[in-house]
Order: sequence, then C-alpha cells, then structure tokens
Amino acid sequence: MEGRGRGRGRGREQVKAIGIDLGTSYCCVAVWQSHHNMAEIIVNEQGNRTTPSMVAFTQSQRLIGDAAKNQIATNPVNTVFDAKRLIGRRFSDSCVHDDIKFWPFTVIQGKDDKPVIQVTHKEETKLFAPEEISSMLLMKMKTISERYLKYEVKNAVITVPAYFNDAQKRATKDAGKIAGLNVMRIINEPTAAAISYGFHDAFTGEKNVVVFDLGGGTFDVSVLSVQKGKIVVKAVNGDMHLGGQDFDNRMLNYCVQKFNTKYKVDMSKSAKALRRLRSECERAKRNLSSEEETVIDIDCLYKEHDFSVKVSRAKFEELNADLFEKCIEIVRECIHDAHMSNDQIDDIVLVGGSSRITKLQELLRQNFGQEEVCNKVNPDEAVAYGAAVQAAALNNEDVTLALTDVTPLSLGTETDGDAITVVVPRNTPIPTQRENYFTTACDNQTSVSVGVYEGERALIAQNNLLGEFDLSGIPPARCGVPSVKVCFKISEDGILTASAEDEGSGASKEITITNAGGRLSKEEVSKMIANAEKFREDDEKVKKKNMARKSLEHFIYNMKSRVTEAKKKHNIKTSAAEDVLSTLNSAEEWLDDNEEAEACEFENELKELQFHRMPHFTRNL
Ligand code: ADP
Ligand code: MG
Repeated sequence: MEGRGRGRGRGREQVKAIGIDLGTSYCCVAVWQSHHNMAEIIVNEQGNRTTPSMVAFTQSQRLIGDAAKNQIATNPVNTVFDAKRLIGRRFSDSCVHDDIKFWPFTVIQGKDDKPVIQVTHKEETKLFAPEEISSMLLMKMKTISERYLKYEVKNAVITVPAYFNDAQKRATKDAGKIAGLNVMRIINEPTAAAISYGFHDAFTGEKNVVVFDLGGGTFDVSVLSVQKGKIVVKAVNGDMHLGGQDFDNRMLNYCVQKFNTKYKVDMSKSAKALRRLRSECERAKRNLSSEEETVIDIDCLYKEHDFSVKVSRAKFEELNADLFEKCIEIVRECIHDAHMSNDQIDDIVLVGGSSRITKLQELLRQNFGQEEVCNKVNPDEAVAYGAAVQAAALNNEDVTLALTDVTPLSLGTETDGDAITVVVPRNTPIPTQRENYFTTACDNQTSVSVGVYEGERALIAQNNLLGEFDLSGIPPARCGVPSVKVCFKISEDGILTASAEDEGSGASKEITITNAGGRLSKEEVSKMIANAEKFREDDEKVKKKNMARKSLEHFIYNMKSRVTEAKKKHNIKTSAAEDVLSTLNSAEEWLDDNEEAEACEFENELKELQFHRMPHFTRNL
C-alpha cells in the first residue's frame, strides 16, 4: 500500500475529513495528522477514545454515548443500543425478531415493513427509524471532532461490516446525511483495519491477512490480500451473535449460581441486581485480559446480601471454552472459503475489544502459527484509523492511498426463469461498470422484467433479490431479435445502479437498488434532517440551561463560603452576615424547587441576587 504523508510541511490549515467507526457497541473517530504522519484518535469530552453506541431519552433531555450508558440501569426502556443490528433491515426479517426478544426498548413495525424504535421522551411517545438513532451517534462523533479541531467538520468516511448488503450501506449513508455529514465513502471495516495494518508495516509484495474482529456482540472474520495500493477481500465469515456480551453472560450465570447457592435465594428475580452484576462481570472480564485473577465485589447486591468472588483467568476460560473454539472454527472456515491454506496466511490482525482476550490469542497462535498473530494495531481504534486515512486521501490531504475494494458477492439478473446470469462476478474491484445483453423470450414481447440478484448460487431462488424493474416500449419483433443491454454500475461505496436499454428503440430504464429492506424516501430523510436540527437546538438549550444553573449555584456557594469566612474572622457584623446567609439559603431553596426552570429564569435569578439582594459590602469580600 502506498502511504505516509510526503511531509510537505504544515502550511495553511486545511479543513479535514474524519473517519468514523460506527460500531454496534462503541464508536470511534479519527483524523489524519500529516505532520505526524499518522491518524489520531480524537477523545470525547469524558477523555475516552471510544464512545458507547447508545442514545437515551429522558423526561428532560436526550443523552448520547457515555452519558446514556451511565443511566441505563435507571432508564432501560428508553435507552437505545444495537441500532446497527436494525439498520437497513425489514421488521419481518427473522434476525430482527431474534434481537427484539432481548432488548429492553420497544421496536414496532412501521411503514413498508421498516422497524421503528419507540421510546418515551419528555412524556411523549416518540418513534425513530434506526437511521435516526445512528445519525445521533454520528452527530456525536462529528461534535467530538469539531470540539477538537475547532471548526465545522462535514466530510467523513464511515465504516460498515463487510457482510452489509446494499440496503444496509445506503441506510448508513442516509444516517450520515441526517447527521449533517457529507459521506464521502462507505468502506468495509476489515478493509479499514487492513489500511491501518498497512500503515504500521513496511510493505513489500503481497500479504494475505486475516482480520479477526471480535466486538461486543458480533464476530467478523475476513481474509484479505494486501498489496501496495490494493486491498482485496477474499472471503468473509462470522457470527452476528457472538462477542463480548456472550462472555459477560457466561460469567454472570456463574456468579448468579454462586450467589444463589450461598444465600439460598434466587437473585435472578431482580432485574436491577442482574444489571449491576453484569456490569461488574464485564469489568472483571476486561481485567482478566491483563491479570491472572480478579475480584467481583458488590455491596448489598440482593436482599441485603453482599457479593464477593474471586475469578481466575482459568475459570473465565473454562466458562467460555466452547465459544472460543467456535471463533477458531470460523477462522478456519473463512481461510478455507478464500481457497487458502493456513501457511499462506502471513498475519492475523486482531481487531475489536474482545480480541484482547489472552486465551483467544493463544488459540490463534496454536492453530495458525506463533508468528502470525499481529498486535501492531490497536484493536479498538484500527477501524477508525483506517477510515481516517481513507477520508484524508479522498479529501486531498497530505496522504496517498490507492485502494481497491471488491464486490463481496456476485451480482446478476434472472434469465430463463430460474437461472442467474452473472453481470458482475464477485471480487470485481470497484467502482465498476459491466454490461450484458439479453433478448425477448416470446414473439412481439414489448416489455421485459429485470430482476437484480446478489449471491453465488446457480438458482435464482437461492440468491437474494435486490430489486426488480420493467423495461417497456420495445417495438414488437420476433423473439430473440431485440437486443436489451443491461448495465450494472457500482459506485466507490459499493452501491449498485442497474439500467436496461432496448438498443433498437433507445427505450431505457434505470433503478438504484432501493427496495431491499425498505429504504427511507428523500422526503423522509429531509424530515429527519429537520428533526435532527430540532434535537440539536434542544441539546443546546439544555446545555445553556445547565450552564445558567451552574453559574447561579456557583455564585451562591461561593458567596456563602466568603460570608461565612468573613463572619468567622469578624470582618463583618454577625447580624449582617446572617441576613446575607439567609438570602442565599432562600436562593438555594429556589434552586431546589425549580430544577427544570429555563435558562433565562436562572439568569434573572442570578442578576437579582447579585445586584439587588446582596448588600454592598459583599462586593469587597
Ligand atoms: P463493536 O465493534 O461491537 O462496537 P468493540 O470492538 O468496541 O465493539 O468491542 C466491545 C467489546 O469488547 C465489549 O464487549 C467489551 O467488553 C470488550 N472488551 C473491551 N476491552 C476488553 C478487554 N481488555 N478484554 C476483554 N474484552 C474487552
Ligand atoms: Mg467494531
């Protein structure tokens, strides 16, 4: 891969583009820094390098990221996560139903079979498309980068899993649009991780790498060939329901059993106790990636019983042995799908928080070679890092990266009823445009119907129908005479437009694949943009209100301590001091009674207090 800035100096500051890893559990944002020759991860306002993919709705405000995660225990039904599992899907998809069963928030069937998330916000029922929830996360990442860069950021590259179909990619692009971003390109997560890997390694020749991405709830394996300027995805495999949460659950079940046996109770009856215990299990699991043993210690977990247990790394590994073995099996399959043998694999790139688990790394070494497991990239950040490099390259910043992605599945049309004619074979580098010619099957046929499919199976029924359209206006002729040109165009984002043209009459028709999974219409997107703007204004209002409230609080406490101090030192009369303190106490009471007042009310109260109710001498304290 070509890369690394050419060090043209800092020069005039350029408006940068950002790379966003929009993860199922965590998001991460990065920006290319040409003077350091590397991408930099941008920390959020809590100082964290990744931000939980959660949005919460409360009686008074909307919370995103860490703030949403921090209140999930008290507001589970209005805290939305896993939106990535819904984006671009139909409500009736069986995987959507499987997920809904485990979510504390409500998902209902919307127009055109779209899933809609239902929450209560400011005492009203509100409905959100998955695109809107994702857009809120993207907007958060945009704000995080703007706070750091100190200017408005528009251009972005967003990553998606390699198995995402056209509808899921488009929906992700719509989410970006709703967030006010110009999505320059959607790229695959393993490709982004491979870019990051390529930037950490001096490249010669061609390397075959496995990207092993084990996240919070999903496992994605890809085999890629990485060469200078070209990354080709050879095979993808994985399990959409295997990840960190499963390991947490195993530990949770173990702890619940221990607790119940010890105290002869059933603590699993308390959802709250389970939530507390689960979050401690997750913390313990993380510790076990660097320590041999850790302690889970919770006061008053259930019915006033405390809970304390030591968990060793060996115990954790035993609890998850079959799941870890499953991960290894999926890697084996993926290498097999790529028509490679283990010794053709040069490196295994570890990505995703759960790839830090020591046992998994050990199993990978045992199965695929000691040298192959590569710790050169940061597992939480590699995807955002690669996205930032790609974003900078597209934004004409000081970095060169020529990169080729490929179509993961073959695309074709239906012919003769049940066979598929491939127009774009799998693994074709994109962007691309391919044509194929068809004709009519009956005499005087004036229209043809074109079905667009993706998949590797010979029979149409076994492939995935992406869209269909009719081309009419073909002049009557004997069957086999008309020549219909079908053209598939795939953009850099992997988004497909299919068109058909009757060469004789020039009649033509074009579709961009839209009905796979019920995409949002243009109007819906515009409406959501307006809505997002309203939310942003609301957030600003809450921020302003909190600041006004804090200023008032600050004034009261500050003045109280100064007056008390002066009173102690006998610098002022006791009676005068007490008068002031009592005025301040009533202001404090007002604060308690008016938690939800508007910003201007706090400001007025402060002005009144400061300039009218405080005696003159307080100014000199
Ligand atoms: P996603 O790609 O699904 O958004 P991440 O790659 O951020 O998710 O992975 C999140 C998961 O990684 C969580 O389940 C978290 O518990 C787990 N994780 C994070 N750090 C560690 C660690 N040090 N050891 C084990 N698991 C970890
Ligand atoms: Mg991820």
